[in-house]
Amino acid sequence: MERLWAPWRLEYIERAPDDGRCIFCSPEEELLVHRGEAALVLLNKFPYASAHVMVAPVRHVGRYDELTDAEARATWPNRHLIQISESMTGRAIRTQDWTYCVADTSGSTKQSAAKTYTEYQMYDQRADPNELVNLAGRKEYRAKADELQAQLKKLLVAAGEPEPEIVTAKLYP
Ligand SMILES: [Zn+2]
Repeated sequence: MERLWAPWRLEYIERAPDDGRCIFCSPEEELLVHRGEAALVLLNKFPYASAHVMVAPVRHVGRYDELTDAEARATWPNRHLIQISESMTGRAIRTQDWTYCVADTSGSTKQSAAKTYTEYQMYDQRADPNELVNLAGRKEYRAKADELQAQLKKLLVAAGEPEPEIVTAKLYP
């Protein structure tokens, strides 16, 4: 990983204005690129690079997995790689038909990426749009899981991460 030094961001880090203003409800107009129904696009006021933008859901949620399907699609219309670093470090790929998610089961959140992930969740978006039935580890979905795993690794490498090891979920009866 190459660290990018962006000293102009220090101004924000040292004294972020505590004016109670919500950047999603009342964004600075000159920074607002697009306001959609489910998501908005903001220029970063203290960017890492020129044209650094943030796509955020309009609704106030704390985690990616709290988004509705429509919100997730509006927020990530063309990208299917999801990098999770909240309560755990995880990675997921979401296609029209499948969600496949891997996680670092050591529980460490102090890392930007893990070397090893374990299969964590897999959902059939057509049959189970509410993601109620976790198919990770089910024998009959092994071939599909392998396919999604290969696609996820490709996306991760394309995003600049080393190719991780992904441990197969244990089989449930
Ligand atoms: Zn708000």
